[in-house]
Amino acid sequence: MSTTRRIAVIGGGAAGFFGAIRAAEVDPTAQVTILEATDHPLAKVRVSGGGRCNATHACFEPRELVQRYPRGSRELIGPFSRFGPRETIAWFAARGVELKTEADGRMFPVTDDSATIVDCLQHAALAAGVRLRTRTGVSAIARAADGTFALTLRDGASAAADCVLLACGGTKGTGGATLAQGLGHAIEPQVPSLFTVHIDDPLLKGLEGLAAPAAAVQVPGTKLRAEGPVLVTHWGLSGPAILRLSAWGARELHDMDYTFTLQLAWSAVHAPAQAAAALADQRTAQARKQVASINPFGLPARLWERLVAAAGVPAGGTWAGLSKAQADKLAGQVTTTRLAVTGKSMNKEEFVTCGGVRLREVDFRTMESRVCPRLYFAGEVLDIDGITGGFNFQAAWTTGWLAGSAMAGPRD
Ligand SMILES: Cc1cc2nc3c(=O)[nH]c(=O)nc-3n(C[C@H](O)[C@H](O)[C@H](O)COP(=O)(O)OP(=O)(O)OC[C@H]3O[C@@H](n4cnc5c(N)ncnc54)[C@H](O)[C@@H]3O)c2cc1C
Repeated sequence: MSTTRRIAVIGGGAAGFFGAIRAAEVDPTAQVTILEATDHPLAKVRVSGGGRCNATHACFEPRELVQRYPRGSRELIGPFSRFGPRETIAWFAARGVELKTEADGRMFPVTDDSATIVDCLQHAALAAGVRLRTRTGVSAIARAADGTFALTLRDGASAAADCVLLACGGTKGTGGATLAQGLGHAIEPQVPSLFTVHIDDPLLKGLEGLAAPAAAVQVPGTKLRAEGPVLVTHWGLSGPAILRLSAWGARELHDMDYTFTLQLAWSAVHAPAQAAAALADQRTAQARKQVASINPFGLPARLWERLVAAAGVPAGGTWAGLSKAQADKLAGQVTTTRLAVTGKSMNKEEFVTCGGVRLREVDFRTMESRVCPRLYFAGEVLDIDGITGGFNFQAAWTTGWLAGSAMAGPRD
């Protein structure tokens, strides 16, 4: 090992920048270099959160926070107690960036502009003396007999390092998985998480833009179930409940080739029997009024009209005229609508892949490999992913910070 510690960070995304800055701040004598394949470091940060960057989530209890991670929840408890959302907020505040909390807990820069986060990371890296090499893809890493690393760059050049942080993200085909495999790691297959679903059903036609605020979705025959708002889109359904279902069901739904039956409760607060009872109440209380004009479930008016029509209630039909069969069908429409899903689309605001480096091969106190000493991992290259809401960046900040701390910590 050379006297100046050479730290190579592969990947100039959220996790790579955070790890590099932390390492350079802890050990200002270290030579920390980010090797970024493209010309655009921090590209995902820039486009994140619809251009606003949902940088973290106002959830400060590690045990509660980890419940937002379909993969990685057990491993992240310790890391979040050391560097969680509270520390993220303080980290950015110390560098002049204030974050604000929205009603649902998502946190964004007060500027509502992801460029604020990008600029902050770039300035912090520069100030800490981190070297950034763009258009420098790493194609192979070999471990030399003395324990150092020999990196082969895509242009054929080579570089040497004493520690390597693999932070090359989760997108298939970036080569991150191959680099980790080359150093002895197993990779969980990478598949998309956080997607919306394609549904071509007359029930939804013309309802684009409408949202049911308290819905629930499930996939019959599986344990997959999620609650939250559901939004009708031009191609099917989206919204937090659908995104949560897609995150928890990333593997199962991939294995079904994204073709399955979705059972939807437009109002999750009503079980089928309660919905039937609510309808029965209206039959007496609102006897002369039209069924389509009185909506006991708090649904958008046009959606309610559509459900009423789908239950076979004639236009202008009154509550007094609602037959038992029509009432049962309407209760079914509200609580157990079944729709055929025929595919998926990636979510525009945030998307992520599940899969990556197998977690039990990593020491989550330091993010160091258990297989290859002085190799570290951070961010989406790991088999960790969160639901939408700022949780994916939080995992990148946390694992990057831990890896940076360890790489620059006392040498053994
Ligand atoms: C459109 C979109 C919006 C999102 N919005 C949010 C959000 O608001 N909140 C949130 O929490 N999450 C969001 N996410 C998810 C979040 O962006 C990722 O979880 C996060 O960027 C992961 O960081 P990372 O550093 O691990 O990987 P990345 O950001 O993917 O960075 C990896 C970097 O490594 C480089 N690289 C790859 N292979 C090599 C190689 N062999 N050699 C050199 N360089 C290499 C890549 O070019 C890339 O720059 C969003 C994702 C997308 C796609």
